[in-house]
Amino acid sequence: MAFKLTYATMFNPPDELHRGFDSAVSKLKQNLGQEYAMIINGRDVFADEKWDDRSPVNTEWVLARIQKGNAMHAQQAVAAARDAFPKWSRTPWQDRVKLVRKAASIIEGRIFDLGAAMALEVGKNRMESLGDVQETADLMYYSALMMEKNKGFISPMGKDPLVGYQATNMSVLRPYGVWLIVSPFNFPFALTGGPTGAALVAGNTVVIKPASDTPWIVRLYAECLRDAGFPEGVVNFVTGPGSTLGQALVDSKELDGATFTGSFDVGMKLYRDLAQREYVRPVILELGGKNPVIVSRHADLGDAATGIVRSAFGLQGQKCSAASRVLVEEPVYNELLGRLKETTEKLIIGDPTERATTMGPVINKNSYADFKNFTEELNQAGGRFLTGGHVKTGGMYDKGYFCEPTFVTDLPYEHRLWQYEMFLPITTIGRVGDLDQAMKIANGVNYGLTAGFYGSRDETAWFFDHIEAGVTYANRPQGATTGAWPGFQPFGGWKGSGASGKNGGGLYYVQLYMHEQIRTLVKHASNGQSARRTAPRRKAASKRSAPATGRRGSRKPGRRK
Ligand code: NDP
Repeated sequence: MAFKLTYATMFNPPDELHRGFDSAVSKLKQNLGQEYAMIINGRDVFADEKWDDRSPVNTEWVLARIQKGNAMHAQQAVAAARDAFPKWSRTPWQDRVKLVRKAASIIEGRIFDLGAAMALEVGKNRMESLGDVQETADLMYYSALMMEKNKGFISPMGKDPLVGYQATNMSVLRPYGVWLIVSPFNFPFALTGGPTGAALVAGNTVVIKPASDTPWIVRLYAECLRDAGFPEGVVNFVTGPGSTLGQALVDSKELDGATFTGSFDVGMKLYRDLAQREYVRPVILELGGKNPVIVSRHADLGDAATGIVRSAFGLQGQKCSAASRVLVEEPVYNELLGRLKETTEKLIIGDPTERATTMGPVINKNSYADFKNFTEELNQAGGRFLTGGHVKTGGMYDKGYFCEPTFVTDLPYEHRLWQYEMFLPITTIGRVGDLDQAMKIANGVNYGLTAGFYGSRDETAWFFDHIEAGVTYANRPQGATTGAWPGFQPFGGWKGSGASGKNGGGLYYVQLYMHEQIRTLVKHASNGQSARRTAPRRKAASKRSAPATGRRGSRKPGRRK
């Protein structure tokens, strides 16, 4: 069987993947530091101000020169998306599906170049970088598939004349309009591409605003869409600070909906800002996590240690799904700690483009400073470092932002860092007397994104039933809390981790990008003729105002069978 890259298979990839990646990195390194424009209405747009996008691996490496877009660019991008909406929304859904699939296949074709850029810009190790690219393509394919499986979400409703008259009733899901997509630095490709694919296939036009730490890789994503042939203005891409350009997008009166993935505080501000309008706009929020792992006395401790270390320190702990709290039943506490220490000490920290590296740098100077401050605070509060506790220094480490994978024990449960999302390679471990205590602690936070469990089969049913989280795993060595894949483990959070209650890459996601219209067409019984026969033949007008119902819906009146 051909190898399929996912976050579960990436630990043992075939050699050709390594060869492809290595050659892409050396090619890319010859060509760093180029200037990249924004894309508005299909054209490259340059701003007066620019900034250098530097690598967290080595801050002397300038990866790209990026445009510092401002409020004027925000308005231009939204206006372009507004102008493109009527035509795009009336494009048959089958054609939108085709285009989204084409873009996904272009992404797959460029996986090595994109993965190489990702590793340099985000600091993800090579397999995580390639995984992010493949996940993006799969998210887009999945939205296309859902559109197709549901026949464009054009569904006949009941014909039963119980309501007292004869009529045809259709439920039609239709796009909202201009959709804003704001993405975070840690999965810049998948968390731009997943929402974008869904918004586009549903018939919305989009404005994409990436994190300022990762504008280059998202520009390369926008190029894949441009090369797929989306019409001008359907996909717009702007770069600049969240506090200015991002805020101007949020404040635009022309927005019809938004998907924000990022921190709780920024996401809630966006939500509140959008609520100040004359009517409610849909906002899909995907926010932070403080994800627990519960280890029972009946657990397979080998699987638990492998899964916990992968989820605590993959991408340097900067995943919304990272295992940041571990709660262990007393009888297996010491043994698990021994295994966690042994497994963690095998991790290799270094240049994420190197084959052997498991952990690269954290994203930027602020995160690096946060690591130092948090470890100091943990130390002061009585926490003990089972592993790590320091930043890495000497040689190449002094050029970037490298931190040790850090497990902390003995931190009192009342301490704020049991609740606060540090978003770094720091995980706290606590001892519990029984599983009920563990569950109480696990659920005692505002977040509810992912959760993991290791224990007996009977206990897993109890775990799934009681845990408050959107993505849950039991007895999984591939990752205790991380590594969801579209179509298998749709991803989304409860409570403060997400607003829609429906998970990306799942059965109910693409529908979030459409609102429902019910179409009731009465058959006139009085003169014995159906509305179809008496409808005027307004060919030209009907074409202009044809509903977004795909091929079937755009037929001219009088031609329906
Ligand atoms: P931030 O909240 O700092 O930034 C996210 C995005 O918001 C960036 O593009 C940022 O731009 C932009 N932004 C900032 N201020 C505004 C504003 N006023 N208006 C509009 N946009 C704005 O998050 P990070 O990038 O640091 O990502 C980490 C966070 O994301 C973590 O909390 C993590 O848990 C969460 N996350 C959640 C996921 C989920 O699926 N639930 C998945 C991945 C991450 P700029 O960079 O220019 O400031």
